[in-house]
Amino acid sequence: MKSFADTLRELIALEGPITVERYMDLCLRHYYATRDPLGAGGDFTTAPEISQMFGELIGLWMLEVWHALGRPHPCRLVELGPGRGTLMADLLRAARLLPDFRVAATVHLVETSPALRQRQQATLASSGAALAWHDRLEDVPAGPLLLVANEFFDALPIRQFVATERGWCERLVGLEGDRLIFGLRAEAERPLGNPLRLGDVLEWPAASVATMQEISRRVAGDGGAALVADYGYCGPAFGDTLQALKAHASVDPLEEPGDADLTAHVDFHRLAQAASEGKARVHGPAAQGGFLAALGIEARAAALKARATPAQAAEIDGGLHRLTEKGPKGMGELFKVLAVTHPNLEAVPGLPAPPSTV
Ligand code: SAH
Repeated sequence: MKSFADTLRELIALEGPITVERYMDLCLRHYYATRDPLGAGGDFTTAPEISQMFGELIGLWMLEVWHALGRPHPCRLVELGPGRGTLMADLLRAARLLPDFRVAATVHLVETSPALRQRQQATLASSGAALAWHDRLEDVPAGPLLLVANEFFDALPIRQFVATERGWCERLVGLEGDRLIFGLRAEAERPLGNPLRLGDVLEWPAASVATMQEISRRVAGDGGAALVADYGYCGPAFGDTLQALKAHASVDPLEEPGDADLTAHVDFHRLAQAASEGKARVHGPAAQGGFLAALGIEARAAALKARATPAQAAEIDGGLHRLTEKGPKGMGELFKVLAVTHPNLEAVPGLPAPPSTV
């Protein structure tokens, strides 16, 4: 049978070079549709897979925010890109503390991969919650919502532009013989600001911005709040952040098309901008370590350890350390958390209040 890589090469041979955005989109669709990429046996690991504390604390965050929103009933509990369903399972367990919330909430999972939908179904079957799956956020029924997205935005395709003597040129993926290579095309169709140096790379996350616009339209219009956690930076910044992971190691993004995880760092500044343009209130972004500390991760770890075996206690400490670790590569610092809420919600747990709008 023809491999995905062969089909991709044929497409490029036929149509000519494609944008980085199209390349990411085609590769990621194939990648997620054909495997469960998470965990030790997969390509990468995420916060909810490292420790149950992550989803539990987000569950408590949701309870508090639901209360602050005036306890909307019904309330859509939405997750974008739920992976194995682990975060939602941990969140729902924590939410048992407030039975009224469990009655009000209907769970909506936005997931394109059939393989992962099956995995989510298996994880969440015993939760007792009413579950619905959707391909896109736009398909989730209207009404007040609480939304969470962990390591979702980094999986959305980006465009890349490179500073050349001709101005900004879009980066393309083409063919040299049988090999995929990066190339450039004519000038960008709109002004992109002044680069500092030739060779600078500017990333444009069109899909992320569109998703954030839809989130803010909903939370500002129907009421609600969204919590986004991902690795990224607070731009504007130049740099090529396209990266590929296979079996927990970096590989060349063109090396194993459709068989390696492709991601780009999330530009939180642009997400925040898209959210405020949509009339929602923005809280943060803040580093994940500080956010989890403010929500009480230390106390949660201590409570779990009080009834754990020594081996389990070591695992809990390991999880705590990984989720909050400082340094440019530690999840506590590299990962950022951003909340987007209805404008009436002046503060949310764990994130700095936005500047007041007088
Ligand atoms: N949130 C999970 C999984 C992160 S991996 C965790 O933290 O463990 C990214 C997830 O997003 C996967 O479930 C993947 O199938 C899904 N996904 C990727 N692109 C998507 C898209 N365009 N629409 C919906 N889901 C998508």
